[in-house]
This record gives sequence, structure tokens and C-alpha cells, in this order.
Amino acid sequence: MGFMDLHVHSSCSDGILSPTQIITAAVEAGVETIALCDHDTVAGVADAHHAGKRTGVCVIPGVELSVAFHQYQDVHLLGYGIDTKAPQLLAQLEMFARRRATRNQEIVAAVNKRLTTEGKGPLDSSEVRALAEGVIGRPHIGRALMARGYVNDLQQAFDQYLVPCNVPKYYWPMADALATIHAVGGVAVLAHPTTVSTDQQALNELITELQTLGLDGLEVYNNLASETDMLFLQGLARRLGLLVTAGSDFHGTANGEQIGKGRGGIRFSDALLPPLAALAAQRAADR
Ligand code: AMP
Ligand code: MN
Ligand code: MN
Ligand code: MN
Repeated sequence: MGFMDLHVHSSCSDGILSPTQIITAAVEAGVETIALCDHDTVAGVADAHHAGKRTGVCVIPGVELSVAFHQYQDVHLLGYGIDTKAPQLLAQLEMFARRRATRNQEIVAAVNKRLTTEGKGPLDSSEVRALAEGVIGRPHIGRALMARGYVNDLQQAFDQYLVPCNVPKYYWPMADALATIHAVGGVAVLAHPTTVSTDQQALNELITELQTLGLDGLEVYNNLASETDMLFLQGLARRLGLLVTAGSDFHGTANGEQIGKGRGGIRFSDALLPPLAALAAQRAADR
């Protein structure tokens, strides 16, 4: 048995480490399999894959999509085993990148308005870009505010500026997200399910419905779930026959965050991998 981590972010989205550095960190942590799941981009997968080949770390290509479903916004869907060169996927991701760029400009403009009323100098979007290597999001605007000394940490940046000045994101419609992941040979897994709702009955109904739409699995072991949540999700996955996955949601931004370790220091066994790999292989064969 070995250890894995199926939810890791790199500097291609809002993580700190480059894809290559992630592999080094995985080696140091004794993690044999990782899935790179950047927000709305697969740009880091090739580098991670190459570094993985050199060091013996198995890299599963992944992505984390922000999806809307019914009244729920920002439902996170993980796609595993996707063909990261598929034009159908890349075209959709590019469209999202363009929308995101417009949104970032609008958020920076709103933040600047607020800064001006406080008698502080406005941010230039180049300052934000300089702090990002790939997909830019609110955390990068927050880091720019920190660099200016306007806030002490990212949480304060969100509380004082990024929440009040937020501009809604464009979300994937759930049906499109599931169809796209499947069409490019992937397996669709609901990330940190208790962030969608903490009400067990609501989650039960939602996940049952999502399964009829094509959802393949639940990220049962994740950083945002309590032990009780994980037991509930484990039971739900077993009852519905959904795959069970596990990941840290490592960004490298918070103190003590470690690749391959979840809340309370739990590690993720790669005994969960074979059913996921089998379904991904079947999906790839069905294309
Ligand atoms: P964005 O996709 O640009 O809206 O940025 C979303 C990211 O910002 C999330 O993945 C979190 O890492 C972070 N975030 C969102 N809301 C908050 C909040 N209220 N406090 C701290 N971090 C947040
Ligand atoms: Mn993130
Ligand atoms: Mn997420
Ligand atoms: Mn994530």
C-alpha cells in the first residue's frame, strides 16, 4: 500500500508551488500518486507529468471546475483522467479564462474605488499579474493588497475588499461540466461535498440527483469535512455505489499545509485508486 493525494493546486492556478515543485514535495512526503487539479486549467499537467516520470511519482491529469446547479453556485467538480489536449476541453477552458480576465478587471476597479475613498493609492492590474503565473483569481488580488501593506493577511483582504467588491463568476452549467469531463475520457467527482450544503438530507438528495446526471464519485476524504462529515459521505457513496476519492486541496498558502495530508494529519491510501483507474480506462476506451 502507498499514499496518494488526488487534489493538489499549483501556481498554474492559485497554488504556490510550480507543478515541478509539487512533485518534489510529493517525493519528500512519500506520496506516490498525485492528481493535479488546478482551477479551470490543465496547463500544469505536462510539467507535473515530466517531473513525475523522473522521480517515480504517478501523475493523474485533473482539473477543478466551478459549476452551478439549481440554487447552488460554486459547486466544485473534479475531472480525473481527462485528455488534457482535447480541443473540446481546451476551448471551454479558454472561454472561461476570458470571462475570468474581464471579471478580474471589474474586481480590481471596484477595489480601487474603495481604496480611493480610503485615501489609498489604487492597484495596477500589472501588480496582480506579477503575483500570478497562470489563472488569476481573487487570492492574487488579495496578495497584491498585502504587498502594498493595505492588509495583514489574505483573510483580511477578503473581509475588507474581496468579498464586498466581488463580481460573480461565470459558472459551468452542471450538465455541460459533466458532459465535457466524460467526453474527454474523464471521471467526474464532487469536490469537498459539504461545502455545497451541510444539511445531510439536502446533500443526499442533491448527490442522488447528480448521479442520475452522470456524477461518478465523491471526494469523501477532504480538508473541509469533519470526521462526522466523512463518515456520512462514506456511507452515502457506498449506498449509491459512487467512487470514493481523497485529497488535501493543497495550495501551499496556509501554515502547515502538506501534500498528502488531510485534516488532523490523515493520509490517503492508494487502495482507493483501482476503481477510479478502471473507470477512467473504460471512459478513455469509450471515446
Ligand atoms: P475566485 O475564484 O477568484 O473567486 O477565488 C476563489 C478563491 O478565493 C477560493 O478558492 C479560496 O481559496 C479563496 N476565498 C474565497 N472566499 C474567501 C473568503 N471569504 N475568505 C478567504 N478566502 C476566500
Ligand atoms: Mn483554490
Ligand atoms: Mn474547491
Ligand atoms: Mn481545490
